[in-house]
Amino acid sequence: MASIFTKIINEEIPCYKVAENEDFIAFLDINPNAKGHTLCVPKKEVDKIFDLEEDTYHRLMKFARKIGIALEKTIPCNRVGITVIGLEVPHVHVHLIPINEMRDMTFSHKISMTPEEFLDLVKEIQKNL
Ligand code: 5GP
Repeated sequence: MASIFTKIINEEIPCYKVAENEDFIAFLDINPNAKGHTLCVPKKEVDKIFDLEEDTYHRLMKFARKIGIALEKTIPCNRVGITVIGLEVPHVHVHLIPINEMRDMTFSHKISMTPEEFLDLVKEIQKNL
């Protein structure tokens, strides 16, 4: 069965898309740890990051770097944290999380945002890409 992220990539379900190219997509996490929490996802569905082709892995990191730099420019924060987990969605994704303190990296700490806030944030990030 297709992963929820493949359904997003195929536009079967919506997302707050930040950026996309032929092989990767970045969209806002629907249940963010912190404002600007973004997922960078290869379009080819692979479960675990180290199972990616080496070239795809490097290009995913290059793509994530570009998004992370835009996040740092957009959101006042100490830095952008990066992590890979994949226990909930078995489709490779890099979490980019603007952080000020360690709890922003803990997935038990969540913030809530309205659809309007998500949409405005996408526009602000895109200005800095
Ligand atoms: P992980 O698999 O790394 O443990 O976490 C999966 C992440 O994907 C979570 O942070 C969760 O909030 C996010 N997520 C799960 N389903 C959706 C979805 O349908 N849309 C978006 N934008 N994010 C999702």
